[in-house]
Amino acid sequence: MYVKQLELTNFKSFGGTTAIPLLPGFTVVSGPNGSGKSNLLDALLFALGLSGSKGMRAERLPDLVNHSQTRRGHSVVETRVVVTFALEPHEIPQATLSTADSPVQPTEPTESPQILEWQVTRKLRVTKQGTYTSTYLLNDQACTLNELHNQLQQLRIYPQGYNVVLQGDVTGIISMNSKQRREIIDELAGVADFDRKINQAREK
Ligand code: ATP
Ligand code: MG
Repeated sequence: MYVKQLELTNFKSFGGTTAIPLLPGFTVVSGPNGSGKSNLLDALLFALGLSGSKGMRAERLPDLVNHSQTRRGHSVVETRVVVTFALEPHEIPQATLSTADSPVQPTEPTESPQILEWQVTRKLRVTKQGTYTSTYLLNDQACTLNELHNQLQQLRIYPQGYNVVLQGDVTGIISMNSKQRREIIDELAGVADFDRKINQAREK
């Protein structure tokens, strides 16, 4: 599995639509300071459903929309990020329970075992007043954030789980206390997700 393409539309410094194809293996992105290298990682985290804007170095989610678009005065502006994964057929995640009482819905058997692309899209629509809505799509079909996280989990991708190691993360870990460090291990081992689900169920 690898990320095959990242497509950004009006995301941070990327006005218009920019498609960035990636190859398997090790990729280096280089460029001058402020040219948007880290914004690419922010875009990846955005599409993977990171909910807090601070993790994407923005005060609020609407700050992720390219400024030149917001300055144009449209009543609604939209930012969109599409991440295309290249997966082997056996890696394609199965739809799982989205709520505790809905039946398990396996995905339709794929027409051909050669389907290798799996796409996650997140859109953020921001109004002039600053209100916003965030939507997710899995292979162009609308889904909830929970459904997205369930499927990403099957690929061992966790938006807060250090698949992406950001600037400052390493020094952050060094200066953590042991309880905070334990939380990272819980997150990486997948235990934290069960704890979250238990807490969610208790709140209902
Ligand atoms: P460095 O080498 O310093 O780490 P970088 O290539 O990682 O730089 P980024 O942090 O990705 O750079 O990009 C920063 C740039 O993105 C800044 O110039 C900032 O003005 C711009 N930027 C951030 N948010 C927006 C936005 N909403 N609209 C337009 N530009 C934005
Ligand atoms: Mg940077």
